[in-house]
Amino acid sequence: MIPDNTHSGFNESLAWTSDAPIGLAVDRAQGPFLYLEDGSRVIDMISGIAVSSVGHRHPAVISAIREQIDRHLHVMVYGEFVQRNQADYAAELTAALPEGLDSVYFTMTGTEANEGALKLAKKATGRTRMIGFRNSYHGDTHGSLSVTGRDVYRDPFLPLLPDVDFLPFDDVDALKAIDERVACVITEPIQGEGGIIVPSDAWHRALRERCTEVGAVLIFDEIQAGFGRTGSLFAFEQFGVQPDVITLAKAMAGGMPLGAFVASRELMAAFRNDPPLSHVTTFGGHPVSCAAARATLRVLQEENLPERAKWIESVVRQRLKHPAIVEIRGRGAMLGMLLDDAERTARAVATCLENGVLLGWTLHSNNLVRIAPPLTIGEPVLIEALDAILDALQQS
Ligand code: PLP
Repeated sequence: MIPDNTHSGFNESLAWTSDAPIGLAVDRAQGPFLYLEDGSRVIDMISGIAVSSVGHRHPAVISAIREQIDRHLHVMVYGEFVQRNQADYAAELTAALPEGLDSVYFTMTGTEANEGALKLAKKATGRTRMIGFRNSYHGDTHGSLSVTGRDVYRDPFLPLLPDVDFLPFDDVDALKAIDERVACVITEPIQGEGGIIVPSDAWHRALRERCTEVGAVLIFDEIQAGFGRTGSLFAFEQFGVQPDVITLAKAMAGGMPLGAFVASRELMAAFRNDPPLSHVTTFGGHPVSCAAARATLRVLQEENLPERAKWIESVVRQRLKHPAIVEIRGRGAMLGMLLDDAERTARAVATCLENGVLLGWTLHSNNLVRIAPPLTIGEPVLIEALDAILDALQQS
């Protein structure tokens, strides 16, 4: 498998996001595999960055998409018409969430879900101050970037939203800084791009208590951790706390673009007037994406994929033993393999790709290898990928 750098459209007409894109030329994808234009097969160990949790082109998702495209595509901006798959999915999603998370606002992407959640918190509380956490990642539009806790990504775009402060992650004492001026606190329940960091139960509890005490809206960004990836349908279930708003996207619609923020009906009512239409979107909750999302949720539940995530974690932890591995961290199939050296990490990831196994970094760390395969990956394929990683470490 060799990255294809001969495609003129890719090289000359497509905007790049770095000087060194991976450049795989994909022909098709199925289950845990990408099939490239050169005929080779690659095991996808990053799921399109936590998207393809039910595997690529799950048959139930494909058939739901086909059925919807035969009925209608876009018919009206979000929130005006009754579109069956959109409304039914909202009901099914809220049924899978606890009471208090019972009203869904659909978006297209993760960052838009966070934008909506931040605006909702401001409007509902009448406050402006926002708290984020160091090393967090919430997306690249201006609002989400404003609460993303990494200066290297924020500095080129300053000024961003005013009145935002960052606290150290997983530090109970620091939570005292959350006061009555705070509209919202936004956090990932498990930090993804920050390096797969699982905070303590005690921190989660203290965060929940402090937000309740001062009347701040607690937003959990489960855009990466949600939909079974960490071993429960939603990651917050594992910490015994419930947010006021949860934001979702990525794995939600089995490979189709969809996002959402979900809150109580009372909180969400803040968007209905003063003025009406104060937060609208054309494509949010696209009917084809919602059809795919309904099928995805059913697959996650019927195939018990959160349990599969736990099984993946146990296989990875048992198998991946090598002196270069400092730590395997994370939960379920949202794992990070911390290596002893950044250069070795780059070499190992490159060798794996040459041998048909796709791995990747997280945005904020260059010696942490992301391990996040589709939750449907079978045992032989998982073992094949893990053995390729061990071989690559041996050679690097
Ligand atoms: N929040 C988290 C935790 C993410 O990991 C991401 C993307 O990686 C986002 C938000 C942004 O989502 P999107 O790329 O769909 O805008």
